[in-house]
Amino acid sequence: MDIHWEQAFDEIVEHLQALVRLDTTNPPGQERPAAEYLAQVLRREGLEPLILESAPGRANLVVHLRGTGQERPLLLLSHLDVVPAEPDKWRYPPFSATVSEGYIWGRGTMDAKNLTAIELMTLLLLKRQGLPLKRDIVMVACADEEEGSRYGLRWLIENHADLLEAAFAINEGGGYGFDLRGQPYFTCQTAEKGICWLRMDASGLSGQAAVPIEENAVVILAEAISRLGRTALPLHLTPTAERFIEGLARGQGAETAILVRGLLDPAASSFLLRQLPLSPTWLRLLHGMLHNTVTPTVLQAGREIQIIPSRATARLDGRLLPGQHPEQFLREVTDIVGPAIDVQVEEYVPPLESDLDSPLYRTIEAVIAEVEPQSILLPMMLCGSTDAKYLDVLNISSYGFCPMRDEGPVSPMQLAHAHNERITLDNLRFGLEVLYRVVRRFCAAP
Ligand SMILES: [Zn+2]
Repeated sequence: MDIHWEQAFDEIVEHLQALVRLDTTNPPGQERPAAEYLAQVLRREGLEPLILESAPGRANLVVHLRGTGQERPLLLLSHLDVVPAEPDKWRYPPFSATVSEGYIWGRGTMDAKNLTAIELMTLLLLKRQGLPLKRDIVMVACADEEEGSRYGLRWLIENHADLLEAAFAINEGGGYGFDLRGQPYFTCQTAEKGICWLRMDASGLSGQAAVPIEENAVVILAEAISRLGRTALPLHLTPTAERFIEGLARGQGAETAILVRGLLDPAASSFLLRQLPLSPTWLRLLHGMLHNTVTPTVLQAGREIQIIPSRATARLDGRLLPGQHPEQFLREVTDIVGPAIDVQVEEYVPPLESDLDSPLYRTIEAVIAEVEPQSILLPMMLCGSTDAKYLDVLNISSYGFCPMRDEGPVSPMQLAHAHNERITLDNLRFGLEVLYRVVRRFCAAP
């Protein structure tokens, strides 16, 4: 059966609009109506969705499209909650899903109700076609991703891990198109940095501030923080970053290619990065793909203006590259701040990296080569984190891939969590066509 794409496109617009209009701002979340909407659509087509509530109103949706079981399942993951919106900063009300100027406007149109709608339509199209599948497809639309997933994927894993059995997952976090000197690229997210939050304590002498003393903990800490803020941590290579840079270089003329490949050279990397004609967002991302980072965010010292405190504390958000460990990271940090500062790990979540030669990655690469023959697929590392971290515990390899063309002037990457979050109708269509092809090729029985 051929797909009637015009009709599929009308349907996906309707589903995305319906999802955006159900306000799932987290906190408080309240994803239940959105999960019920999906369930009702799926039931209409003869599927048997489950709504699993982790707390009143906090609903997760799971549905299986069964295959022969010859290969292990593919998980299509997304989340139903959205971050808060300030309506007075928006051109159209954030939960109106207004269609205007070629866009659907609204909170969640980029993060991540667009992906939910694309995964839903992909599943429906495959079901309608009645194609034999060599593996099950599991669609999971979670609660609570934006606030730590306690009521979403983490709860599902603790309570219903059996429903999530899969070898691979497609998730948010990648699929963005961009352009360097006229060469188009697409990304597929294959890695996520780990989280390593630090606490630093400086000790000194306390006393009356009227008579200054040299061993002032506030000054000692401030000096350490300032050194840390001005020094990049050492460069480390990972398969994702190497392949990203190699692919980026491959699409460029000789001169730019040399510049790009030079990013892998510890001695030249930082200098060369500043020469690249990429947006500041991409430059920061590239830096993050090559270095552990540590960012001071919280400072605490003293209570009374006239009293020197004996202790000053900073808390820092650290992010670790795949292959790195907290001990090594602590050494990099203490090398900069010096022995006078006590550095402790407050919280650690390991980094992760998926196989760049897995059958799913190769399928994504092949499909992109078909639909955008000029473009190059690059594996990408996310500096932040997504629900993919929790899937790692279940041995599921995640790939962030919600395909979107770069349609300028605002790159899709900058619209998540932003005022006036929106998606072009063209990109919603493109996303559906590409993801459908990937899933079909990966799951259809030969
Ligand atoms: Zn998201």
